Amino acid sequence: MITSNEYRKRLSKMRRNVYMSGELIYRDDPRLEGGTNRIAKTYDMVTDPEFKEYEDILTATSHLTGKKINRFCHTHRSVADLLAKQKMTRVTCHQVGGCIDRCMGIDAINANSVATHEADQAHGTAYYKRFEKWLRDFQENDRSACCAQTDVKGNRPARPHEQLDPDLYLHVVETKSDGIVIRGAKVHNSVAPVVEWLMVIPTRRLTKEEGEWAVSCAVPADAEGVKLIVSAARSPISKELGMPGPYVGADSLTVFDNVFVPWENVFLNGEYELGGRLALLFALYHRHSYTGCKPAFTDVIMGATALMAECNGIEKKPHVSEKLAEMICTSELCYGTGIAAGINAQKSGSGTYIPDIVYCNVSRRHAGVNIYHEFDILADIAGGMPSTLPRLGDWENPETRPYLEKYMMRNPEVPIEDIHRAFRWVQAISCSEAAGVAQYAGVHGGGSPRMEQIAIMGSYDVEKTKNIAKRLAGIPVKEKYSFDRLGEIPGGL
Ligand SMILES: Cc1cc2nc3c(=O)[nH]c(=O)nc-3n(C[C@H](O)[C@H](O)[C@H](O)COP(=O)(O)OP(=O)(O)OC[C@H]3O[C@@H](n4cnc5c(N)ncnc54)[C@H](O)[C@@H]3O)c2cc1C
Repeated sequence: MITSNEYRKRLSKMRRNVYMSGELIYRDDPRLEGGTNRIAKTYDMVTDPEFKEYEDILTATSHLTGKKINRFCHTHRSVADLLAKQKMTRVTCHQVGGCIDRCMGIDAINANSVATHEADQAHGTAYYKRFEKWLRDFQENDRSACCAQTDVKGNRPARPHEQLDPDLYLHVVETKSDGIVIRGAKVHNSVAPVVEWLMVIPTRRLTKEEGEWAVSCAVPADAEGVKLIVSAARSPISKELGMPGPYVGADSLTVFDNVFVPWENVFLNGEYELGGRLALLFALYHRHSYTGCKPAFTDVIMGATALMAECNGIEKKPHVSEKLAEMICTSELCYGTGIAAGINAQKSGSGTYIPDIVYCNVSRRHAGVNIYHEFDILADIAGGMPSTLPRLGDWENPETRPYLEKYMMRNPEVPIEDIHRAFRWVQAISCSEAAGVAQYAGVHGGGSPRMEQIAIMGSYDVEKTKNIAKRLAGIPVKEKYSFDRLGEIPGGL
């Protein structure tokens, strides 16, 4: 395993291909610091004595080498691995107050570890071995990756092969003796400018005319022809007040302008049905990650709400307790459902465990539809101050500071310095550019609520519930009673 310094050093050596605000920038540009800090945390926590008791969830044993690796490089070989990944996600997200951002990589490698094996079974290809070889290097060198899944998609109702411009979904434009050439663009790629590898996979199910779009490959983030056009929210936290961070994302519109990918990094090429399968598998693993990160984010918003209540001296009021209980219901329902998704996992042909589809999607959807409500609760309890808080300079100005200290005073049990810090931090997390990004991410990251609904309805046997109703209504039912959502009892009875 490497240190965060080594991670940062690797980034600084990469080819310059990151564009922001009209400039070609370096990866150690201060505007990307928030994204780098998030990933760096995943390296630091593994050796930080403060997190010693979490060592078993932050690390894993590689099934390829038998060595201890960072869990973000691991494929889930058991139910315990899935539960550990969920825990790791919640714990690491707590440290950065939001997305930990190394999740796209782990989810993409797990999806590939299933789909490549299935492709080999169906088509006699040798993708799985190739992927394992790549994964071995990834694990041995503790590399970081993002997932470039979401195509720009052009006209939404049109399929990839129906678009006026075929590049609106990334596709293979040339096959050579030593590899393939891909063209297109992927959008909303979180952390692309601060990781080493882009895991390119399809967005959606594909039809048999769409083989050229059924491509999965690993591309170095600074490969020739790759251009990262990046947006990163301004850092909202106050370093002056000693707040940790900044931790904010950096998302990329990633252009693949005729990018050559050698065969050793190609994990699917033309197997259209596996392309669709891979798209759904990544979404599933990513929604499983959300069963850890979304509860963590609710914990942060809930903590902020409780802190605001304390600053305002209203922490014992019944409406505060009611609203905190509502948030606990959101976070723990999402987390508990994630545990159920792990316990009900299925072992795939490659030995990688696949979490339960319904539980993952129910959890993710529940979190997504509640995100704005959680901010609503925080704003309600905080009052208006996070939006009109006087600037830091006015706290430093000896002429205005005494007025602020006198008139910002609230709960006499809380020192004015803490009240100031609390409001400034809540302003950062709820009333800033970064907060807006977090809200959209809460709705769409991992797929829009509609996508989760489709996944749930595709896997849920509603007919069985209709049969329950028919029996109770005295309408004859031919099939004997059965219900497939009862869950596994770990270890059996
Ligand atoms: C902050 C953030 C981070 C993200 N990180 C990543 C990442 O790291 N990697 C990655 O690959 N993706 C990432 N995503 C992408 C995310 O998965 C997508 O935003 C999500 O799938 C929605 O796609 P879209 O943004 O193109 O919206 P659209 O798909 O355009 O959705 C807009 C609306 O149109 C509807 N719609 C779309 N198509 C149809 C249709 N054919 N028929 C009917 N209705 C339709 C949708 O249901 C939705 O209501 C991220 C997104 C966000 C916001």
